[in-house]
Amino acid sequence: MRNELFIDGQWAKPIKGGTFPIINPATEEVVHHGPAGTAEDVELAVKAARRAFDHGPWPKMSGAERAKYLRAIATGIRNRLQEIARLETIDNGKPIPEAEWDIADAAGCFDFYADLAEELDRNPEEAITLADARFVSKAVREPIGVAVAIVPWNFPLLMACWKVAPALAAGCTMILKPAEVTSMTAMELGAIVKAADLPPGVLNIVTGSGSIAGQAMIDHPEVDKLAFTGSGPVGSKIMAAAARDIKRVSLELGGKSPFIVFEDSDIEAAVEWTMFGIFWNQGEVCSATSRVLVQEGIYDRFLERLVEETKKIKIGNGQEPGVLLGPMVSRKQMDQVLAAIDKARADGVTIAVGGGRPAGFNKGYYVEPTVLVDVPLESDAWKEEIFGPVVCVRPFASEEEAIVLANDSKFGLAAAVMSKDDARADRVASALGAGIVWINCSQPTFTEAPWGGYKQSGIGRELGRWGFDNYLETKQITRFVSEEPWDWYIK
Ligand code: NAD
Repeated sequence: MRNELFIDGQWAKPIKGGTFPIINPATEEVVHHGPAGTAEDVELAVKAARRAFDHGPWPKMSGAERAKYLRAIATGIRNRLQEIARLETIDNGKPIPEAEWDIADAAGCFDFYADLAEELDRNPEEAITLADARFVSKAVREPIGVAVAIVPWNFPLLMACWKVAPALAAGCTMILKPAEVTSMTAMELGAIVKAADLPPGVLNIVTGSGSIAGQAMIDHPEVDKLAFTGSGPVGSKIMAAAARDIKRVSLELGGKSPFIVFEDSDIEAAVEWTMFGIFWNQGEVCSATSRVLVQEGIYDRFLERLVEETKKIKIGNGQEPGVLLGPMVSRKQMDQVLAAIDKARADGVTIAVGGGRPAGFNKGYYVEPTVLVDVPLESDAWKEEIFGPVVCVRPFASEEEAIVLANDSKFGLAAAVMSKDDARADRVASALGAGIVWINCSQPTFTEAPWGGYKQSGIGRELGRWGFDNYLETKQITRFVSEEPWDWYIK
């Protein structure tokens, strides 16, 4: 396991020599010490990224040339998939099959953006039809410059790659900061990038705390773009920092995503997608299916089946076969989730199953998968993101009521609807105020499709061609082609 920062194509100890403990949340053991970068290291990283952008070959290369590097990174990740997935599980707690899914997706993200980099060569400009025939105009796209990516701990490598891959494909250079609780796979990405022989300074990785390393990155005047995934309060700080220098900014924040289940639905499928929506990744998912609205006719049966199946979930160390729910990422996160459940209890919520730490675990930051019912609409449990395996279930009568309940949130990241009536599902999908709407499923995420939120869930879109646009400026180039003089001052 590595313990150095990756700056200007080289491994380097943090200037001040600090470290932070890396804890396996399943065992509470300190497994490693990560390098704690500070403002001094960030300065070196920004200077390296600036040099690589302003004077290096990267932004001037053809898309096809950059694509070769991106594909080499994809292969580098894939060649070490099991090993990297294991590190992710040790660091984050998620079950190995989920970690393997993430790492495969991370590799796929580089391949996808390699294709888009090549596409940029094929379509380097867009002709613009002007009403005024004395001019000919076109739009071209150019990399924004030096980008900073600050990512959370729930999908550590995958969230990093959602930003690194499109940024590099576009020709930007980047400084990446993983979350301090999950830095190990980002450091391995440094090794893969080095082995792929990426020009120095194109990708720099500085681990360390948000308040020190992260803050130095977002405040740095020579950074052009901030890309962030994480909590709303830190998102606000990032937007404020961006405002100072008019940096470009994209934010992917939290959610409280509803799932509307109509009574013509297959109950088993509705239960399965609910569980996948809230228990996958321990519910530490920004788009987690945390509010389920079930039509009255099937509410009792749905709840009964959800409780039965929830009780069967195998909880344990993510490295053990068959485990479907690992520990929370950290003691802080476990305490936060347990406090949210206690608050729900105090607010009169009924706990249908779960509600605390599972029996039989002396060590590890485990929380039981938990189903809450009779949840008051004004309670925190209904309104606030818990970011753990905790779902609220509530009955509804009519389509109109379901839509009102679903949309009554400050968030708007994702939503889902299930019905055998396609017309109704389409109608509800268009009425839901969310950036991602699933029909007859919940959570599947595709590199090709846009990802991001309405309202307080964020600004901008990641993934797909929308994620590529995050790292590109659009330049208008207009030529005066008339034989006639302009003739305004000089007659
Ligand atoms: P956070 O927002 O504090 O951390 C996310 C990233 O931001 C980390 O890399 C962190 O180091 C960095 N950061 C923190 N302060 C910073 C600053 N001042 N300047 C620059 N970077 C800074 O998230 P957290 O504390 O790890 O989790 C808190 C809550 O956030 C969770 O309970 C959950 O509700 C939410 N969360 C959301 C997502 C998501 O995907 N939307 C992911 C993780 C956490």
